[in-house]
Amino acid sequence: MKLTEIFKQNKYSLSFEVFPPKTDDLYDSVKTATEQIARLSPAFMSVTYGAGGGTSKHTLNIAKNIREEFGVESLAHLTCVSSTRETVNKRIADFKAAGIENVMALRGDIPADMKNADRSGWAYRHASELIRELKESGAQFCIGGACYPEVHPESATQREDILRLKEKVEAGCEFLTTQMFFDNNLLYNFLYKIREAGITVPVIAGIMPITNAKQVERAIKLSGSFMPQRFKSLVDKFGSDPAAMKQAGIAYATDQIIDLFANGITNVHVYSMNKPDVAEKIQSSLSDILGKNA
Ligand code: FAD
Repeated sequence: MKLTEIFKQNKYSLSFEVFPPKTDDLYDSVKTATEQIARLSPAFMSVTYGAGGGTSKHTLNIAKNIREEFGVESLAHLTCVSSTRETVNKRIADFKAAGIENVMALRGDIPADMKNADRSGWAYRHASELIRELKESGAQFCIGGACYPEVHPESATQREDILRLKEKVEAGCEFLTTQMFFDNNLLYNFLYKIREAGITVPVIAGIMPITNAKQVERAIKLSGSFMPQRFKSLVDKFGSDPAAMKQAGIAYATDQIIDLFANGITNVHVYSMNKPDVAEKIQSSLSDILGKNA
C-alpha cells in the first residue's frame, strides 16, 4: 500500500525506523530487532540507506522481509550520495521486483572523506534530482522526502530552505518526514511557514527517543537540534544512570508525541534505532490513543 493512503485515513499512527547493519556479520541481529519491531504492527517501517554505499544492499532485504513476513508496509530509503544512474536504475528494478511501493529519496549524509570533494560530477546532487529520476522511471513509487523544522545545516536561511523544499515537492515528493526535534513549538512554527509557502503534502513528525547521554551529543552534532531546558535538566539529572536515563528519555518522547496528537498531527515516525524495547514502551503507553480515530 502507498503510504499516502495510510495518511489519508486520518488516524493517529506510529511508524518506526530501522537501519541496516554496518557489517555483514551483524545482519542477523538487525533482522531480529527489525522483526520484533514489525510484530508491533506499526503503520509502516522505514529502512535507512547507508550513503557510504557499503551496506546499502541490506536496505532492500530488510524492507522486503518486513512486508512479506509481517505484512507491515515498508519505506526503503535511497540516497544521491554514492549513487550513479546505473545504481539508481538497478535499485528501482530491485525495489519493484520486491514489491516495494514506497521510497524515501534523500541527498544523504556526506561521508567525512567526501566533504570537500568536487560534487559537480555527481549524477544527483540534490534529493529533488533523485525524485525526478524516480518519477520518470514510471515505477509509480510513492515518494517521500526529508524536511527540517530547524533549517537544514547547509541552508543560509529558512526562507531559502523552504523554497528548496517546495522544489522537492514539485519534483514529485508526496510526503515529508521531519528531522528530529525536541521542542514541538519548532514544528508548529515550521508547519505554519511551509503551508503559507504552498507546501500542502502530509508532514510526518520525526521523534527521536534519547535513551542514553552519549546519544544527545550525537543527535546535536548530526541535526543541530535545539535542546530545551526541560530536556537538558533531564540529561543532567539522569545522564549518568543508564536505566533512569532510558526511562526518562522514553517518557520525554512519549510526552512529545501526545502533545503532537493533541495539536492536530496524526502521523509520528519514531527513530527507534533498532531498539524493539523502546518502540514497544512508547507504543504501549499510547495504546488507547492509537486505538482512536483522530
Ligand atoms: P536535499 O533536499 O538535497 O537538501 C540538502 C541541502 O541542499 C539543503 O540545505 C537544501 O536547502 C539544499 N538544496 C536542495 N536543493 C537545492 C538546489 N537545487 N540548489 C541548491 N541547494 C539545494 N541520510 C542517509 O545517508 N541515509 C538515510 O537513510 C537517511 N534518512 C533520513 C531520513 C530523514 C527523515 C531525514 C530527516 C534525514 C535522513 N538522512 C539520511 C539524512 C539526510 O540525508 C541529510 O540530512 C542530508 O544532509 C540532506 O538530505 P536531503 O534529502 O534533505 O537533501
